[in-house]
Amino acid sequence: MTDKSHSSIVRRTSIPNSASEPLVTPLMPSVVYTTQTPDALDDQYEGRTTGYTYAREGHPNADVLARKIDQLEGAEGGLILGSGMAAVTATMMGLLKAGDHVLGGDQLYGRSLRMMAEELPRFGVETTLADPTDIDAMRAAIQPNTRIILVEVVSNPTLRVADMDGIAQLAKDCGALLVVDNTFTTPRGYKPFEHGADIVIHSVTKLLAGHSDVTLGYVAARDPALMQQIVVTATTFGLTPSPFDCWLAERGLHSFDLRFDRASANAAILADALAECPGVKRVLYPGRADHPDHNRTVSVLQGEGGNMVSFELHGGRPAANAMTTAAEHIAFGPTLGDVATVLSHSASSSHRALTPEGRAALGISEGFFRVSVGIEDPELLVREFTAAIAEAQHNL
Ligand SMILES: *Cc1c(COP(=O)(O)O)cnc(C)c1O
Repeated sequence: MTDKSHSSIVRRTSIPNSASEPLVTPLMPSVVYTTQTPDALDDQYEGRTTGYTYAREGHPNADVLARKIDQLEGAEGGLILGSGMAAVTATMMGLLKAGDHVLGGDQLYGRSLRMMAEELPRFGVETTLADPTDIDAMRAAIQPNTRIILVEVVSNPTLRVADMDGIAQLAKDCGALLVVDNTFTTPRGYKPFEHGADIVIHSVTKLLAGHSDVTLGYVAARDPALMQQIVVTATTFGLTPSPFDCWLAERGLHSFDLRFDRASANAAILADALAECPGVKRVLYPGRADHPDHNRTVSVLQGEGGNMVSFELHGGRPAANAMTTAAEHIAFGPTLGDVATVLSHSASSSHRALTPEGRAALGISEGFFRVSVGIEDPELLVREFTAAIAEAQHNL
């Protein structure tokens, strides 16, 4: 029964010809790309033709996604990586050398903070953290060897808005590269390249992909030479994304604008409703006039409050436990940017490594929650939150 003919099922055949084209971007999981001759390969490596060779070095699904995010950020030649942290890693490892200094915001994403505190110093890079809402503190932390300033526009979880204009001026004055992690704000809230940033980073995992089914990152540099350094580092360190993840993220990205509008509108409604709840000690929402940086919501974020709301319950950990139990249809987990509303508790997740005093200094108590507001019916959300908070207070 063995087929001894020259054809074998393990040999790939071409896909059938079609005069019509697929509407949807094809998913291309191939690791390897074949060429006709060594001369043709020379042409490709030497830039006379373009084409892919090996997926770690680049593949079509990543490039399709990258061009779309480029469009949102007003960038060119951005790169997709396997996670948001891969984007931070490629930027730092690609652009720093031993003896350089990095100034970071003091409320960066947890793993970025760890990179500043533990990982970069292992490679001889000096790091300092300072409050990005306080330009004098940032300026005081600059050193002659400061090569990079790394900031997030809106901090986690207290949603402070950084003094972006001041920081851009500071980077210019001291000749440092300004790297902006734009994950929380998204290009809808802030466009770093229009305000003096040299490099923009995203965790695509969050709002851009929006469905909690991929981890991906994005980085773009204004200067093509810097971008090339980042690309070489990412490829060498193997920070490559999976084609399937890129394909899913492209699909998610198509509805990003609509999701952002709905989630932000919902967040504003929820923030106002939470502020009226007797069990709530305080609400932090950049779009509210009582937010400590509301003036910068107007000047930096064009009034966009975004989809993140934080609040503090009366009653500490017992009230927190009771509320998450009562809010049985609201997902409780440490992420953000999903289509559905997700609740996270900073003291037991992102900020658990800090001492209670360290958390208190940031304003994070045991009753502190961060809400990534989704695209549900806003009336349903308000009803569920107010009922869960009332239940928690009732049981204290
Ligand atoms: C989630 C996040 C990251 C890391 O992204 P991953 O895709 O989880 O690696 C970096 N920065 C910010 C602001 C984030 O929220």
